[in-house]
Amino acid sequence: MAEQREDETQSLVFEKCPNCGSTNSLANKMAKSEIEKGRMDPKMDSFIFIFKCTVIDNNRAAILPIGAELPAYDVNMDMCADCGTLWGRKVVIGSVKLTGMTKSR
Ligand SMILES: [Zn+2]
Repeated sequence: MAEQREDETQSLVFEKCPNCGSTNSLANKMAKSEIEKGRMDPKMDSFIFIFKCTVIDNNRAAILPIGAELPAYDVNMDMCADCGTLWGRKVVIGSVKLTGMTKSR
């Protein structure tokens, strides 16, 4: 099981590849040369892609008012530079407001 820690911003961080245990992140490896050239902030974390998830029951979304706050989280995906496994390296827990665009049914 991947090692998990919580940081100060309500995030879950999984630093190690769940397959081989490496901490060799492909995204951070690729960003390293940009940091060395001064074109990227060294404190900035890099990921392959990020997807957003909202916790919502579509059958009950119609009764929620526009602007209702819903629990949501961003899953920051990375790839192991040693074995190629994709893994969710950081999950940022937060919320989103229901808008007319996201309300369905
Ligand atoms: Zn790995």
